Amino acid sequence: MNNFDSLFIANRGEIALRILRTARRLGLRVVVGYSDADRLTPAVKEADVAVRLGAGPVGESYLNQDSVIAAALAHGARALHPGYGLLSENSVFARKVVAAGLIWVGPSPDSMDRVASKGRAKEVAERAGVPTVPGHRGAQDLASFQRAATAMGYPVLLKATAGGGGRGIRLVNADAELASGMELARGEALNAFGDGELLLEKYVPFAHHVEVQVFGDHHGHVVHLGERDCSAQRRNQKVIEEAPSPAVSPQLRATLCQQAVALAREAGYTNAGTVEFLVTPDGQHFFLEMNTRLQVEHPITEMITDLDLVEWQLRIADGDHLFAQGQVKFRGHAMEARIYAEDPADGFRPQTGPIRGFVLPPGRVDHFLAEYAQVTPHYDAMLAKVIVHGDSREAALAQLESALGRTLIAGLRTNTMFLAGILRMPDFRAGRMHTRTLDHVAPPVPEAPAPGLIAALASALTFQGEGWSNSQGREHVGLWRIGGDTVRTVCQSHPVGFEVHVQGVVHVITPEQLSKLAHLIDRYGVNLVWNQQTFRVDNALHAFSRAQHVADPNIVFCPMAGSLLKVLVQAGESVRRGQTLAVVEAMKMQMEIRSPRDGAIAEVLARAGTTAKKQETLFRLA
Ligand code: ADP
Ligand code: ADP
Ligand code: MG
Repeated sequence: MNNFDSLFIANRGEIALRILRTARRLGLRVVVGYSDADRLTPAVKEADVAVRLGAGPVGESYLNQDSVIAAALAHGARALHPGYGLLSENSVFARKVVAAGLIWVGPSPDSMDRVASKGRAKEVAERAGVPTVPGHRGAQDLASFQRAATAMGYPVLLKATAGGGGRGIRLVNADAELASGMELARGEALNAFGDGELLLEKYVPFAHHVEVQVFGDHHGHVVHLGERDCSAQRRNQKVIEEAPSPAVSPQLRATLCQQAVALAREAGYTNAGTVEFLVTPDGQHFFLEMNTRLQVEHPITEMITDLDLVEWQLRIADGDHLFAQGQVKFRGHAMEARIYAEDPADGFRPQTGPIRGFVLPPGRVDHFLAEYAQVTPHYDAMLAKVIVHGDSREAALAQLESALGRTLIAGLRTNTMFLAGILRMPDFRAGRMHTRTLDHVAPPVPEAPAPGLIAALASALTFQGEGWSNSQGREHVGLWRIGGDTVRTVCQSHPVGFEVHVQGVVHVITPEQLSKLAHLIDRYGVNLVWNQQTFRVDNALHAFSRAQHVADPNIVFCPMAGSLLKVLVQAGESVRRGQTLAVVEAMKMQMEIRSPRDGAIAEVLARAGTTAKKQETLFRLA
């Protein structure tokens, strides 16, 4: 770069790391700001300088404009990249960055202002000859909204003009709901965006979301990088994106791209931006809004253009000239799936806690996973983006299916199965997804495995791995907890691999089968992915399962109902981690109960010769 040699990244998560990698490749010194909750994330570790911004909540760290700028200045950064979300679309902040003498890696604050509000953006679109969704903007009184809604007919959408990320949007089906809808929407908008202004739009059913990536430089040149289709949305939030769009003809593509460029030109737009459209099944299109930042789904554009969008953001900020439109070459088809820490089986409730390990598919995965990093409730639940590229849409789809089946994130529930289900939906396969499909149709759930199969796989994996301490000759007995069930396995070698007897069924498992399974083996059990479903199998032979251990580190439980054959320690005795404390017999096998850590026995509740219940406390450590 000619005008800066160091960059401050005012963001977190996968995007902070993704920006860091490009900045580093371009020879920049990288300064990353972080909150207490993100101290152990990869971008913080990889930065040349990492600066603490404050506590976990964004208001005390990433959104604290003055301390972000002070941190950048104090550590010698000359430019600032805001990433996406957080302060990226805040022109007040962008102006402060510039006023502090830093280079803002983003659109000029004036051009942000011209399109930031959804209402003003529509004015710019109309001036540029781009069709917008019919509706009402301006006067905020009920009568004006009512008149417009009645004129165009219900249903209509109320939108916060300052909204984003699918928030601040409310569907109104009838006149009787309008007044209360406006009141609620205004309250939500004030709360979320500090601005209660609303606009009204005709609700366009069955539409595809198609958006065009644009770039403008500081010399009046604007280009587009083609379109992305983000119709696979759950509650207005994108979950799978692809490029190019399967829903647009070559003519419509040309029109959308040309109009996106015209709109950006009209706005005097610089740097990266995205012009969003709704496209109806009969090929009509309407401008929706412009996003004045790098988009979460920018990697699919990078895959089909072979351009690094962050590199071009930095180069434009440095004053470089953009390439000519004719130099942009499109190649193949790309897809991206967003992996969230949320549980589809529990109403998509966000999941928090430590990441206990992960296995990612080959190819591009933008993520910020780190073993034992905590997923906290302070931020968005997105953990990773799995990105694939193929020669055709079919090839990309097959690759994404395979990649999701090889993705394992241990410790937290994720939406991987939901994503894999979307790929199997006939509407998705045919490119007919519209933005509400996922709100009406649940993606198919994959076939459940035969009972015992998962235990058989876990036992073969463990047998193949390190072998068990209680191995008896060539027969390996295992005891596994899956959900609420306890399953006994007997694993032997077999001419083609392993033979596992479980619940009266024999499973023959080959090493090739095992090598295709994404899995993680730890001291307490196995995580594995089978047919795009993730399973946790606890090894019940470890008397102290992790779950119990976490619940109360001082308690040693009986892992399952059985009779206590031996009790080997007394109160007051000191013990070492792994030392055998007692022996229990259950399901025709003996198992050793071991100490989870070094310490002293405070209390012995186990008595030899008695029976113990599952989860019964046997010992208490001091
Ligand atoms: P759109 O605004 O068109 O829905 P995106 O889905 O790219 O576009 O992003 C939605 C909003 O939420 C944007 O403001 C984006 O910056 C923010 N956002 C999305 N995902 C994340 C994430 N993982 N972390 C932080 N912010 C995010
Ligand atoms: P945000 O800033 O939250 O991304 P958008 O205006 O881009 O707001 O709308 C988000 C999503 O809501 C769109 O991708 C689309 O799925 C849906 N949507 C927005 N406007 C309409 C409309 N007029 N009719 C139908 N769906 C719409
Ligand atoms: Mg949008």
